[in-house]
Amino acid sequence: MLDLLRKRLPDREDALGRIQGAFAAGEIPPKDFVSLVFRGRSEEILGAAKRLGVDEGLLTFIAVYLARPFRAQAALELTREVDLGKWHRGHCPVCGNWPALAHIQSVEGRRTLWCLLCGTHWPYGRLQCPYCLNEDQEALNLISAEAEPSFRAHTCARCGKYIKEVMSALSAEAFSFDVFYLGTRALDLLAASAGFAPHPLLAAASVDP
Ligand SMILES: [Zn+2]
Ligand SMILES: [Zn+2]
Repeated sequence: MLDLLRKRLPDREDALGRIQGAFAAGEIPPKDFVSLVFRGRSEEILGAAKRLGVDEGLLTFIAVYLARPFRAQAALELTREVDLGKWHRGHCPVCGNWPALAHIQSVEGRRTLWCLLCGTHWPYGRLQCPYCLNEDQEALNLISAEAEPSFRAHTCARCGKYIKEVMSALSAEAFSFDVFYLGTRALDLLAASAGFAPHPLLAAASVDP
């Protein structure tokens, strides 16, 4: 996985090399590292990032990916008999984390949210903020680079957050969320320059039943 990331994220070569070295030397035991994700221990991942002198977001991302096969398998089992079309919340119906990417089917205009942590995706209102459920169109906006209008950040002025969104002719079922997610880093920079904050990867929603 680290080899693949080094290919896809050449500007992170140095940090990825340091992380790979720490795994190889047993400085970070991979099994313990994965368990930090299952226990939602983002502060311990932050500590490891500081020790290695690497970006916290990058190390969290790697941790999330290492845990993904286990979570994805569990998510498949849990949703086998469930109609996710009945779920109208912005957070993942399986693991409770917030979506990392939205997909818009360019012909039908249907919007689907995707959870990076367990791979579940579910339909969601096209013009609604997944974080605060805001539907006030005055407060919702799209930011994109002129050269790539189908990659955009859907921002919400009410809660100050954004979700990255990709418009594609493919259906959500055929769409490679992982591949596109890795190619959306420029959108984070655009959204940050407009004053919007990303949602942390390891922050599950807390909903009072
Ligand atoms: Zn999930
Ligand atoms: Zn919002």
